[in-house]
Amino acid sequence: MINTFQVKNPATGKNMSTVTCNSPEEIKQCLQKGHDAFKTWKKTTAHKRSHLLLKWSNLIQKHKMDIAKIITEENGKPLAESISEVDYATSYIDWYAEEAKRIYGRVIPTHDEGKRLIVSKHPIGLVAAITPWNFPAAMMTRKAAPALATGCTFIIKPAEETPLTTIRLIELAHEAGIPADVIQFVNGEGKSVGEIFTGSDLIRKITFTGSTPVGKSLIKASADTVKSVTMELGGHAPVIITKDADIDMAVTQTIITKFRNAGQTCVCANRIIVHESIINEFSRKLVDKAKQLVVGNGLDKNTDIGPIINEVSYKKIVHHINDAIEKGATVLTGANYEVDNENKTFFIHPTVLTDVTDNMKIMYEETFGPVVPLITFKELDEAIEIANNTPYGLAAYFFTNNYKVGNYLFDNLDYGIIGWNDGAPSAAHVPFGGMKESGLGREGGIEGIEPYLETKYLSIGNL
Ligand code: ADP
Repeated sequence: MINTFQVKNPATGKNMSTVTCNSPEEIKQCLQKGHDAFKTWKKTTAHKRSHLLLKWSNLIQKHKMDIAKIITEENGKPLAESISEVDYATSYIDWYAEEAKRIYGRVIPTHDEGKRLIVSKHPIGLVAAITPWNFPAAMMTRKAAPALATGCTFIIKPAEETPLTTIRLIELAHEAGIPADVIQFVNGEGKSVGEIFTGSDLIRKITFTGSTPVGKSLIKASADTVKSVTMELGGHAPVIITKDADIDMAVTQTIITKFRNAGQTCVCANRIIVHESIINEFSRKLVDKAKQLVVGNGLDKNTDIGPIINEVSYKKIVHHINDAIEKGATVLTGANYEVDNENKTFFIHPTVLTDVTDNMKIMYEETFGPVVPLITFKELDEAIEIANNTPYGLAAYFFTNNYKVGNYLFDNLDYGIIGWNDGAPSAAHVPFGGMKESGLGREGGIEGIEPYLETKYLSIGNL
C-alpha cells in the first residue's frame, strides 16, 4: 500500500503537490465522525441546510478563478472549460439548496376509520463518494449537494490524479459553516479505500462515478451490508446524423460533444453514424473544424484541447487508433502525437477516422480521447441497431430536422440521456445517468435527491 502520491500537471509533468494517504485507522475514524455527526446534521432544519449550501456555493464562486486554475493544472482541460466546470459545480449546490426545502412526505387516504396513514422522507445516513479525475469539481458537488441537502453526512475519496480541487472545495464548505465532520475527504488508492468504504456498516450509501469494472466491484462489495448504490459508469455514445440534418449545426455540436476535455468524458461522442448521402459533406466540414482546434497547455488562452491525463490513457487511445488503421480505417486528420517521455506529458491532435467498421476496438471499447470514428448507414433502423449494439446506455445524440424521425429515434435508442440537435444536454436540474451497464440511478434534477432518502411509513390507529 502506498503512503503518498504525487499530483502532476499533465501539461508539464511538474509535481503540484505530494498528497499523504490516510491510513485505514484514520479512514475508519473519519467514518465514525461522519456517522456521529449524522445524529445532529439530520436534525438541522432544511432551511438552515439550504442556507449553508448557498453560502458554500457563493464562496466557491468568489474563488472561481483560483479553483478553475487548480482544475486546469491537475486535470489539463483548458481554463475556459474549468471556469465552466466551476459554474456547473455550483449549479448543483444551488439546485439542491432549493430542493432541500421541498422534501415532502404525504398523507394517504385511509382504508379504515380511526386510522391515519403517513409517509415521510428521511436522510439515509453517512454517504461515501468515489469520484473520477475528468470533472473533479462537478462530480463532487453533484453528489455532496443532494446528500447534504437531505441531512446525510458525506465523505469522499477523490481520484488520485485530481484531489486538490476536492480538498479546496471542502475547505470552502467548512468556511461556509458546514460542520467539519459533516463533509470530509480522505485520500488513498481506490481499491484500498473502496474496500474500507464498502466493508463499513456505518456507511449506508456508496455513490460512484468511474469505470464500469470498478462500479461492478463496488456493487458486489456493497451487497454484504446491503448499501444503497448510485453508479455513473462508462459510456459509448453514438451520434446519428440523418440525411435531413442541418449539417453545419451537426458539425458544430459534434465538435462540442467530442472534443470537450480532450474527449475524456463519459458522455462524449464515441461513434458518429452518418447517412451515406451526406458523409462527404459532413466529414469535410468536421475535418475543417477539427484542424482548427489548438492543442496545448490549458493555461494558454488559445488552447482548445489539453493533454491526455496520463500514460495509460494515452497508450489506450493510440492503441485504438492503430487498431482501426490496421483494420482498414483511413485517417482524415490527426493521429499525430506530442510526447515528452521524460516529463511524461502526452498530447493527441484531434483525429478523424473514416472507413470504420464494427470490428474495430474504437467501436465497442471506451476510447476516452479526441478521436472521431465515422461509420455510414443507409436505413434508419440500421443506425439504431449500430447505436444500441453495446452494453453501455449512457448518452446518445442525433441530428435531424424531421420531427417524425426524431421521435422514432428517441423511442428506440436505449440511452438514459439523449440530445436531439443538442451536443450538451447536461444541467443540474435534469436527470443524468445511464441504462444497462452505464449505471444505476440518476443524479441531478428531482431524481437526484431521491437516492439519499429513506421512506418511512407510519400507521396511527385507534384515533
Ligand atoms: P478511470 O479509468 O477513469 O480512472 P476508475 O474507475 O479507475 O476510472 O477511477 C475512478 C475512481 O475510482 C477514482 O477515484 C479511483 O481511485 C477509484 N477506484 C479505482 N479502482 C477502485 C476500486 N477497485 N475500488 C474503489 N475505487 C476505485
